[in-house]
Amino acid sequence: MEQPTSEDAVHRGRALVLADLAADDVAGPEEVSLLEEAVSHRRWWCGQWPPGAPYVPGLLAQDMQDALLARRGRWPLCPVCAADDPHALDVEPELGEDPHWVCGRTGQVVAAVGSLVRARR
Ligand SMILES: [Zn+2]
Repeated sequence: MEQPTSEDAVHRGRALVLADLAADDVAGPEEVSLLEEAVSHRRWWCGQWPPGAPYVPGLLAQDMQDALLARRGRWPLCPVCAADDPHALDVEPELGEDPHWVCGRTGQVVAAVGSLVRARR
């Protein structure tokens, strides 16, 4: 049986990443189905390694970056850098709690994962 904390983390991560996809208008049926695939993989992953539960939100964000890169390009684009030099934000920490979107070029923290909409206003 799965521990409630793992399932909580998976649900929380799903909600955070979905909010960020919606912030960029990339929460259509195809993207949501990619997210569900990532969620089900991370649910399994958490079952294998329950102490990793706090890392699930940041990992799901990175899973979606990878999934979208293969299908539609870089996500999410950095709002800090010039428009003629678009690049994707990085998730930091890659494996840790309290993940944030960070510009890898300037080091600027753009938003917490789940709060990307604040950087898009
Ligand atoms: Zn940047």
